[in-house]
Amino acid sequence: MSFLFPALADGPGERVALRFGERSLTYDALAGAAGALATRLRGAGRVAVWATPDLETAVAVTGALLAGTAAVPLNPKSGEKELAHILSDSAPSLILAAPGVELPAPLGGLARLDVDLSARGAASTEQAAEKDPALIVYTSGTTGPPKGAVIPRRAVATTLDAIADAWQWTGEDVLVHGLPLFHVHGLVLGVLGPLRRGGTVRHLGRFSTEGVTRELNDGATMLFGVPTMYHRIAEALPGNPELAEALGRARLLVSGSAALPVHDHERIAAATGQRVIERYGMTETLMNTSMRADGTARVGTVGVPLPGVQLRLVEEDDTEITGYDSESVGEIQVRGANLFTEYLNRPDATAAAFTEDGWFRTGDMAVREPGGHVRIVGRKATDLIKSGGYKIGAGEIENALLEHPGVREAAVTGEPDADLGERIVAWIVPVDPQSPPGAEELADQVARRLAPHKRPRVVRYLAALPRNDMGKIMKRALADV
Ligand code: ATP
Ligand code: MG
Repeated sequence: MSFLFPALADGPGERVALRFGERSLTYDALAGAAGALATRLRGAGRVAVWATPDLETAVAVTGALLAGTAAVPLNPKSGEKELAHILSDSAPSLILAAPGVELPAPLGGLARLDVDLSARGAASTEQAAEKDPALIVYTSGTTGPPKGAVIPRRAVATTLDAIADAWQWTGEDVLVHGLPLFHVHGLVLGVLGPLRRGGTVRHLGRFSTEGVTRELNDGATMLFGVPTMYHRIAEALPGNPELAEALGRARLLVSGSAALPVHDHERIAAATGQRVIERYGMTETLMNTSMRADGTARVGTVGVPLPGVQLRLVEEDDTEITGYDSESVGEIQVRGANLFTEYLNRPDATAAAFTEDGWFRTGDMAVREPGGHVRIVGRKATDLIKSGGYKIGAGEIENALLEHPGVREAAVTGEPDADLGERIVAWIVPVDPQSPPGAEELADQVARRLAPHKRPRVVRYLAALPRNDMGKIMKRALADV
């Protein structure tokens, strides 16, 4: 029995495990290719994986995990400086890549091993302990330079089983996947998740609403996406009854990695009858909370803590906020077997991230609603605005602005202000740049929907918001626009 992949040694052999474009592997073929690779990698130490959206990446990571070797997925679109940093930080012994794929200069000195999909070996039992590292994944770099989170094997197994419980996820599920493979969302949830269940991954290569329609019409049951994908879906739905029908057929639509605007959620629900399931996770903690697939979801929240995850909200001094009160914003702290062990080579950052009694400081701010539903209001570093004695979350103001028909995208930040401490600034991408909604009108919309002290004092117009490869808004880049 394999600790991480029971279905590989003893599973649905002829079922397709992975399909990327025209190429696919059954469970038997995956067990053979990953098993052969594992034999070569045993004792190799840490290995880097050039994580192009290909079958080879999925086989490389599976092989490394079977060998008990930690895999470091690399973003093929990283700049040379970032790659050089990650390589010197993680010091892999070799790099796994798809045959024929060219590697850029910073990787030149590293031994390369091409992944051979036709190799056949035994999918042997992993020789590693549950506390040993499975993956070193670099954070998305939304708030600062990416940090390497060391993720133990135990955390991968725990999080995938907890999520399966919340989503009633089984080996019969077929996942439509359009995300990159070098972050937790696309790799742990999107590839290791289905493989642990014995189900199927169909990767689109590049996300498109046509690809989603095609796969859902062809028997796929779930879609995992980031909010920018659901935004594209929401925008496409009005003129596309085929897409609406296909989405209506899905068992589960899941969003994560950033907040899903309520406006997009509502438009999708109205057109398809589906409520998108939101879940909240981090590189360091894998999955913390999720709406459950049993109909108890509360729109605008990220659901409830997953089985095995302890979650609390705290004040600045780490004292716990008890009870459910929509005015008591606190930092989310978590504990559980889903957590990372450390930031690689960063004992200072690791120590700062934990309280004395082992709670991880997520840096995300939230309130708890009746029933324990967690409503994230934003990140402590960039989304919490202290204005006129109030602590205001950027997220609810963004949601209010997005409901204006003239607003395509919105981001809210705080800026130093002599009177207020900080003033609220709204960054707006208008639907029609020729006649954008006026600053007064937008501020009134927010004041009407929320409260007068939440009015943006400044409105700035942009052609697009700065976003990273997961579609997350890079708020620290907004100041430089
Ligand atoms: P860095 O840590 O390098 O600044 P990052 O925090 O964006 O980047 P990740 O670990 O990929 O890197 O992302 C985790 C963060 O994403 C969470 O801390 C949270 O702020 C945000 N997030 C994830 N899911 C959700 C969600 N459903 N709603 C709101 N925010 C979310
Ligand atoms: Mg982070």
